[in-house]
Amino acid sequence: MNCGRILWYNTRTMKNDCIFCAIAAGEIPSFKIYEDDTVLAYLDINPFTEGHTLVIPKAHTKGLVDTSDETLAAVVARVRKVAAHLKEALPCDGFNILQNNGPAAGQTVMHLHFHIVPRYGSQPIVFESRKGDMEHLKVLAARLAMG
Ligand code: 5GP
Ligand code: ZN
Repeated sequence: MNCGRILWYNTRTMKNDCIFCAIAAGEIPSFKIYEDDTVLAYLDINPFTEGHTLVIPKAHTKGLVDTSDETLAAVVARVRKVAAHLKEALPCDGFNILQNNGPAAGQTVMHLHFHIVPRYGSQPIVFESRKGDMEHLKVLAARLAMG
């Protein structure tokens, strides 16, 4: 599975041009950590830190202010659940939650998502994407997958 390079091809066949909808529908593979009826969590392919995870609602919504209270409550509850799991399973010492709204704020994928960015010791944070090693992400996702 190559969750990065397959992207350019699949975007041509996507129904609504949304990469995260395609991931939620299983049309594009992901390094899945957690899934239920409403939410999906998977590793970011350009991680800020080891274990950088994205949590999305399966149903498309653009950002925080476009999202219903009900959906938001469900997603945030899963952010907490997945973050608690990552803290133990990685393990990490802490984590940042990041949620960008609009291009001016750095949002590049217009489907609501929360970043869980694990932190280690006093390692300084650099909010800068680096291309992930797909083999490493595959192994890490298998280790972190929630039952
Ligand atoms: P934003 O800047 O919109 O808050 O974050 C979007 C994130 O989605 C980025 O960190 C980027 O690396 C990640 N991303 C973009 N395309 C894909 C993809 O196809 N799969 C995964 N797992 N992450 C993606
Ligand atoms: Zn979408």
